[in-house]
Amino acid sequence: MLIVESYFPKRTWTSRRMLRIGFHGLIAIINSLIMRLPSLFIIIPALLIINDSNYGLLNNLKTNFFIKSLIGLMLLDLAFYWWHRINHTINFFWRFHSVHHLDTHLDVTTSLRFHIGELLLSSIFKVSLIFLIGIPISIFIFYEIILSMSNQFHHSNIDLPDKINSTLEKFIVTPRYHANHHTIKKESREANYCSILTIWDKIFLTYKDANDLERTKLGLDDRSKEFGILKYFKHPLS
Ligand SMILES: [Zn+2]
Ligand SMILES: [Zn+2]
Repeated sequence: MLIVESYFPKRTWTSRRMLRIGFHGLIAIINSLIMRLPSLFIIIPALLIINDSNYGLLNNLKTNFFIKSLIGLMLLDLAFYWWHRINHTINFFWRFHSVHHLDTHLDVTTSLRFHIGELLLSSIFKVSLIFLIGIPISIFIFYEIILSMSNQFHHSNIDLPDKINSTLEKFIVTPRYHANHHTIKKESREANYCSILTIWDKIFLTYKDANDLERTKLGLDDRSKEFGILKYFKHPLS
């Protein structure tokens, strides 16, 4: 996506691109080092427990692995819709998630910009899902991979032709769809919460389109905390 957006950018970069790559890259390195701890000590053990037990919904369904996988993937995507929505509607979670939205631009590096507090909280959420749904290890890993791919795709600074975009948007989150979620305009920012499938915004009536001009005004009203490593990490406490 980094290469594609270099050749076909939708918006001209408003801040130095190398600064964005460096700053968001540094955040990604710090996050992935710290996230080894919850992965090793809570997520992997939870997956191993589920693997060897009968806990959770899927473990108690009398159907084949394919159907179980499909149900598991849909439930995970539905759960992540609500997780994202809660991150916007409950002030405590918004304190962390807002650092993602402080970005005044949107490109593939925005997909790395998540506060470590949000990632740690989401690990606890993931563990509860593993136990409730009874997610097999393979399905969990498969979902994490497609979620990460979708995350990089829908944050990238590209725009698909109208027809392709509107067809794809019926099923999955596209860069234009997610740009609606990053607008300064509250109506479209406090909507469009889907991560992979767009069906959840339709079901829960949270799909709000923005126009082309609105999709160029991104971020939050506060433009001063976009970069700066200390400001970034301290933001949830402010
Ligand atoms: Zn958001
Ligand atoms: Zn985003």
